[in-house]
Amino acid sequence: MNSLVLSPAERAQAADALARFVDSYEESLPARPILPDLDRDTLAKLLAEPFPDEGIGVAGFFADLRDRIVPNSTAIAHPRFLAYVQGPPNGIAPYADAITAVLNQNCNFWQLSPAASVVERSVVQWLAGLFTLGPAAGGILTNGGSGATKDAITTALADRRPDFRERGLQSGAPPLVLYTSEEAHRCVDKAAATLGLGLDHIRHIPTDDAFRLRVDLLADAIAADRAAGLEPFCVVATAGTVTSGSIDPIGPIADLCAREDLWLHVDGAYGALFVLADSARETFASLSRADSIALDPHKMLFTPLEAGALVVKDVAKLRAAFAFSSSYLTVAEDELMLDFMDYGPQLSRSFKALKVRAALRTFGVDTFRAAAERCLRLAARLGERVAAEPGLTLLNPVSLTAVCVRLDGRRDEEYPELLARLAGEGTALLGPARLGGQTAIRACIANYRTTEADIDLVADRLAALAKHPR
Ligand SMILES: *Cc1c(COP(=O)(O)O)cnc(C)c1O
Repeated sequence: MNSLVLSPAERAQAADALARFVDSYEESLPARPILPDLDRDTLAKLLAEPFPDEGIGVAGFFADLRDRIVPNSTAIAHPRFLAYVQGPPNGIAPYADAITAVLNQNCNFWQLSPAASVVERSVVQWLAGLFTLGPAAGGILTNGGSGATKDAITTALADRRPDFRERGLQSGAPPLVLYTSEEAHRCVDKAAATLGLGLDHIRHIPTDDAFRLRVDLLADAIAADRAAGLEPFCVVATAGTVTSGSIDPIGPIADLCAREDLWLHVDGAYGALFVLADSARETFASLSRADSIALDPHKMLFTPLEAGALVVKDVAKLRAAFAFSSSYLTVAEDELMLDFMDYGPQLSRSFKALKVRAALRTFGVDTFRAAAERCLRLAARLGERVAAEPGLTLLNPVSLTAVCVRLDGRRDEEYPELLARLAGEGTALLGPARLGGQTAIRACIANYRTTEADIDLVADRLAALAKHPR
């Protein structure tokens, strides 16, 4: 092949191979090991072998995929993949991603992506609307929840320090302090550290017995920092902590932030999209008071990686933090289209909104509401099963879909081996957790393929492992 264009015959061959791959992968899922039985020789070869001077062609590419890549890939879409907060991709995803690659719109400024700009605006509007953030709200799709939270903290910095762009953190003003809880995701620390705030200026406020940030201790910490001459500027609350699914008391935190003039960011990467479930909607009502919310369509909207989102109550503040004009990138403004490069750190950006739109339109929003509801119901079932088993201890109230379990009679050192055994025998991939000072096994149901039978199998096996330690 001396050109980068496929011939008509090669396109037909590639399309056929792709269709067969999608079908056979789907059909193989229930029987597929969740964690692959790694072929280390193959992996070492993948690492070291040189790329060929002469191409191996379409058939060669697909054969290699089948023989070496797929067998060494984790089956994220397996119905008993219950670790972390990681959903399987929805069924239209491979086609939407293929179309994204064909169109290859660059979502930096609108002229390179007019329809994409409008589609991204519509997706962002829909997301912001779920939380009734108001008429000035807007946002941007990001590569994930971590990125969204980092961009939110950047926006908060620019909003609190009008000279932040010019002088950064070096203006000689008092050090800024950010508050979050002990159960917050590490992405908050990572963002604060990489933005130059310093981990010393992050306060991890203790939580109550349901693992929610304690507002009284938050108020104390803010007062103590002010008394010490520091400058509180931002609170990152969590709507769905990664370990236990706890939802911080957003209303009282918002009251405190209003009194203290602090930016309120909510990390909703795991939990906030459960707003789609009727039974959980009320729980998220107070998110309307946030200045910004991080969301993850690649979790509970089951879009393939990567698709996160940041929605901001006053989108002008996001723009104030990220817009930089340059002569080579200036195009005439148009009221319909946005230049998304002005709303985040990236210049070249993929058309992530297409896969979100494809999912919402193909399946309809009701299907996602039902999927969220179903995950909640399955988690509640697992929580009830665990609570009822004499050998098992449920460590958290199951408010979303995370269930943390302790097995009686098992020492902390045994947990890694237990997790490996559960995965190896095909029961389920579950995750490790530390909660309330205790080591646990954590199941997180963020998987629309999981059934009640899967949940019962996991509960039965955990109970058996507790009763019969060997
Ligand atoms: C998943 C998650 C994140 C990180 O999101 P990424 O999309 O992986 O960057 C942050 N916070 C919480 C609570 C999460 O569950």
